[in-house]
Amino acid sequence: PEMNVQAGWQALQEALAEGDAGLVRQALGELYPQELLDHWDELSREHRFTVLTLLPPEEAAEVFSHLEEDEQAELLKALPPWRVKELLGELSLDDLTDALQAVEEENPQQAEALLDQLDPETRAEVEELSEYEEDEAGGLMTPEYIALRDSMTVDEVFRFLRRAAPDAEQVYYLYVVDAANRLEGVVSLRDLIVADPKTKVREIMNPDVVRVRTDTDQEEVARLMADYNFTVLPVVDEEGVLSGIITIDDVVDVIQEEATEDIYRLGAVESPELVYSR
Ligand code: ATP
Ligand code: MG
Repeated sequence: PEMNVQAGWQALQEALAEGDAGLVRQALGELYPQELLDHWDELSREHRFTVLTLLPPEEAAEVFSHLEEDEQAELLKALPPWRVKELLGELSLDDLTDALQAVEEENPQQAEALLDQLDPETRAEVEELSEYEEDEAGGLMTPEYIALRDSMTVDEVFRFLRRAAPDAEQVYYLYVVDAANRLEGVVSLRDLIVADPKTKVREIMNPDVVRVRTDTDQEEVARLMADYNFTVLPVVDEEGVLSGIITIDDVVDVIQEEATEDIYRLGAVESPELVYSR
């Protein structure tokens, strides 16, 4: 596989050098977003721009969400409007909020213009997420979770999932809430698959949910995930109402960021703003 990645990467560089959009698209088809990100530093600004314009929207969003905030802000300024609109549509709400906050820092007017392009519901959710501190659970979470009621049968859950799953951040852990949206249980997809279809969610859910609050420090979130080995944690407000979920990918970024801070704290090197990825 490593050979193929090398070949795919080489094909991309040749296509970029030739400036042939068709060949670039073809070469991009052979690479995963992660493989592009691994080599991102080797691409010139101009070629990065081309790649992000020619990638299919979903993959462009995947790559974009992993770039440094400064670069995200720059790209949102430079990319063609149709691509910006597609990116805004594909990004998950937490990544979208982070990107718009990066733009806001430099250019509030442009941030406002981008917010104007969002549908009213998305805009409201982004504005709500922007209220949370960046280094607390609220700043890491996304509201795109799937919530169940404990009276649902397993069969009903699966029917519901067919509709709800495409837009959810993840479907592996499903949270159970009461009428006031207070968190009262969790079931995994595995729990559901092995249960009889007529079983009620309340019979198989785990009512002892490990959770964090919107104001829990991000280091504590990372520690809990590592200790319990959960890839997702639910986030509740002071009333126990489910506000969002945090997925492991966002916590990996936190761990990297804290490690980088620690290295700089050792005093060997001066700490540039650039090292903080979010
Ligand atoms: P393991 O071998 O650790 O059980 P697994 O792959 O079998 O791993 P799952 O079956 O997906 O893991 O999940 C284990 C259990 O953890 C599930 O029953 C799920 O309901 C529960 N769980 C998931 N998230 C939480 C949470 N935040 N708090 C408490 N329990 C949770
Ligand atoms: Mg298990």
